[in-house]
Amino acid sequence: MDNVLFSIHETPNFWEGCLAALRHILSESAVEMWFGNIRFEGFSEDGCALLVAGNSLAASWVESHYRDALIASLKKIAPSVGNYFIRVSEQSKASPVPVLVPTCPFPAAKPASRIAAEAFARETDKILSSFYPSYSFENFVEGDCNRIAFTVSRTVAENPGGNQMNPLVLYGGTGVGKTHLLQSIGRYAITYKTATKVVYRTAEQFLKDFVKMSFAKTDRMQVEREFRDTYQEADMLLIDDVQVLAGKERSQEELFKLISRLMSHRKQVIFCCDRRPSEVPQLSERLLSRFESGMSVSLNAPDVMTRISILRRKAACLNIPKEDCEAIFQWVATHQAGNVREIEGLITKLLAYHDLMGLDCNLETIKQLFGAMESEKNDGIIQTVKIRSIIDATALAFGLAPALLSSQTRIQAVSLPRKIAMYLCREMTQESLKTIGFHFNRDYATVIASGKSIERRLLGDPALQEKIQEIRLALQS
Ligand code: ADP
Ligand code: MG
Repeated sequence: MDNVLFSIHETPNFWEGCLAALRHILSESAVEMWFGNIRFEGFSEDGCALLVAGNSLAASWVESHYRDALIASLKKIAPSVGNYFIRVSEQSKASPVPVLVPTCPFPAAKPASRIAAEAFARETDKILSSFYPSYSFENFVEGDCNRIAFTVSRTVAENPGGNQMNPLVLYGGTGVGKTHLLQSIGRYAITYKTATKVVYRTAEQFLKDFVKMSFAKTDRMQVEREFRDTYQEADMLLIDDVQVLAGKERSQEELFKLISRLMSHRKQVIFCCDRRPSEVPQLSERLLSRFESGMSVSLNAPDVMTRISILRRKAACLNIPKEDCEAIFQWVATHQAGNVREIEGLITKLLAYHDLMGLDCNLETIKQLFGAMESEKNDGIIQTVKIRSIIDATALAFGLAPALLSSQTRIQAVSLPRKIAMYLCREMTQESLKTIGFHFNRDYATVIASGKSIERRLLGDPALQEKIQEIRLALQS
């Protein structure tokens, strides 16, 4: 290393200094929780701080939430440090994800008498029976696209009512597992008695209950009591699809009052939303700032690695011969981008072909089947899928998470595959430079430069030619 700024041995207090600087920007507990497990290893040749996180959750959380704060703190201690790289420790599997120490967990109430205990058991059975049986943490497949949401959900289920994750908002597009996680939290809290009264409602049901109360002509007191008993007595309130309340001012106001009250009693509130709450139109400022006072985490459509894991888990019923499984899953995951619900739909379809038509689930028949399905789609969809497929196939060929290709990371191990993917997008799709750039979080000029850089390298690099050909073949097969 020629240009090493200083080595770890010369700067024993560097990281402590950064942590102290971070404590000026973030809360003590956030620094402890997310940075406590991070090790400083030294500096790269171009002056980047090299950090090692104990687990991938901490690495991705820091990257997505605290990047600016971390860079500012690094610069404060060593002004010449311009950036950092964070990687996950090899021992990450063994190290537990951070779990907040409960600030005030509810003691699960013990029913006083046998009759009360029976009533309590009936009540919890009733709630559990209203949940989808398969929506549990055990059945949730973790991947880069949902890891943070999954871990935060587990943490909240284990320790409901803490300050930092209350309210918790899980947001993301359709079919990515929001309801699955929401109900898993409720199921866990009931099963392990971390909350006594768990209430799950869709925002639609909440709206109906509120309208019923507001317009009750007879038995008004009774209806109000029912409303209060249902919602205000909750230890844990789970509200699904909260975007449904957009523009419904009075019910938003009621919800605001309700969650303020619950939170002041340290009761846990969790919402699902089909987009970032700030993007929901006509949501009152007050309610939005309530949402934003807690924690919001996103779930994304599954990346190729997660799609493979989901197929592995969910396609067990297809009786695919063991030796063919991996090739089939890799092929399907590369060719079928989409949310988890779509992947499930696909497995159901394959199962139907398998059971009803006696079709063997081998790679050839599956490819044929896909040919038929693809031609049902319109061109626009195929086009966008194609860019994603190129990203997925390239990432897979280099053993990387696809999300890295659109990240800001500039390390060679990522920047070369990124350039290759851009080059292939230009070659294999009709998309504009701007659209291609958009998929990589880059502008059109970077797409042009990347294409040129690969063209130049290809001239004298047979290994690269082979690698790119391999990706082309994977995409065309
Ligand atoms: P959303 O509420 O985001 O629209 P759901 O939670 O209803 O989506 O999920 C749609 C389907 O996909 C469900 O059958 C759910 O079990 C399944 N699913 C979603 N994400 C996962 C995951 N990570 N692991 C396993 N199944 C999942
Ligand atoms: Mg849902």
